[in-house]
Parts: sequence; C-alpha cells; structure tokens
Amino acid sequence: MELEGSGRRVLEVLVPHLSKVVPGKPKTYLGYKYVHEALGLTYLGPAWGESLKKQGLASLADWTYENDLPGITGIIISTGSYEPGKGYFKLFGKDEGDYPWWAEEVRRSKDFNWSPYIQDEFDLKPVDLSSPDREDITVSIIIRDSKLSVKVKALNNECQICSLALEMPAGKKYAEAHHIQPLGEPHNGPDVIENMICVCPNHHAMLDYGAIKLHSENIASKQGHAISEQFIEYHNKNVYQP
Ligand SMILES: [Zn+2]
Repeated sequence: MELEGSGRRVLEVLVPHLSKVVPGKPKTYLGYKYVHEALGLTYLGPAWGESLKKQGLASLADWTYENDLPGITGIIISTGSYEPGKGYFKLFGKDEGDYPWWAEEVRRSKDFNWSPYIQDEFDLKPVDLSSPDREDITVSIIIRDSKLSVKVKALNNECQICSLALEMPAGKKYAEAHHIQPLGEPHNGPDVIENMICVCPNHHAMLDYGAIKLHSENIASKQGHAISEQFIEYHNKNVYQP
C-alpha cells in the first residue's frame, strides 16, 4: 500500500520535528491543531483531531500499521489530555493507555529513516512573483512543477547566477526553475531545458521583471543542461528593460 498525498504531507510535518521529540514526554510532541495549521488545512470539525484524521492522519496511521512501520502518528496528541486519540492504540491492537508501547513506537519513529517516503530536495513549490493575482498562481505552479523543471533544479542544485541555494528545514534546499523566453502570451517560449535556468528567488524575480540582463559567460553551466544562446538573446532584447 502506497502512502497517498494527504498522508505523506502529514508525515512531512512530523519528520522534521522528530529530533525534538523525547519518547515518553508528550509535552515534546505535536498538538492536533498545530499539525492541522502547519498543513494549512480547512477545519472540517468536530474537533482538530477529527478534522486532521479526515485529511491525512488516518491514512498515514493505516499506512504505518499495514507496512509494519513505527507508529509515528503517536507524536500527534491532544494538548488537553497529552495523549493520542483512542484510535491510535486500537489500530495497533493495543490497550488504550499502553504507555510503554506508545513510548517505544515514538523511539522507533525517531530511529527510523523516513526519507524514502517524503519528497526529495528541490520539490518545494515556487511562488510566481510575476502573477498579478492568485488565480494565475495556481496555473503557473502546474507548469513549473513539470518534470523538466525538477530536472533543471536537480542538475544545478543552486542559482546559476549567484550560486545561492536556500537552506530549508529537514535539510531541503530551495531554488526555482525559470523559463528564459517566458511561456505563454506574448512571448510563447518553448518548454525545453535549453530555455530554462535554475535560479534563487531573488534572481527569479529580477528575471521575471526584466531587471537584469543575462550573459552566458556569467551563468554557471552543468553537464546535461546547456542553455541556448537564442533564449538569452530573446530575454535581453524582449524581457530586459534597460
Ligand atoms: Zn541568485
């Protein structure tokens, strides 16, 4: 059984927090409401725990149980009782209040390598600074999250203009892929790797707004990712505003 999207997103909130969790000390665990808000979910009621269950918590718990993995959902607790929901003990066939077992699951969760189950580096979604409104942002994310942009980011690992890679929680790094001759009207640039550059958010904004010129000799190049001069010329002529 694969871990589906909403469950994986809950896992992604939990894993970076494991280093701060002390097994048997629920005050170091995470509240239902905290996780709910960290994910930006819509409150479905009737309580934070119930709402979170419907939006990933239950699917993550089921997945850990079915795959014989540590019961990581035990680090999500009610901040009133400092205990996980009854369903947590029940799912694993334990008596409600089997605290030694619970602490052991938390300890196993801390020791376990969850990285194969959460997303890779360079997968954070970029915000499209050039979009005039939020409607357009959704559309741009779909385009930018293409296989090609993931490839461009993976090949370069950092801004090709200034070498910056932003350090994010859980050892993730962040950079963005930019189409040098922009996609869509009026530029109609192609979605090909030769038209793409991996940049930091600052340089992405500057390129989107035409604030800087591009010079191929100043762009760090990586094997497998050649930027075509014709797109650089297009940017300098049609996007760049002196
Ligand atoms: Zn940069």
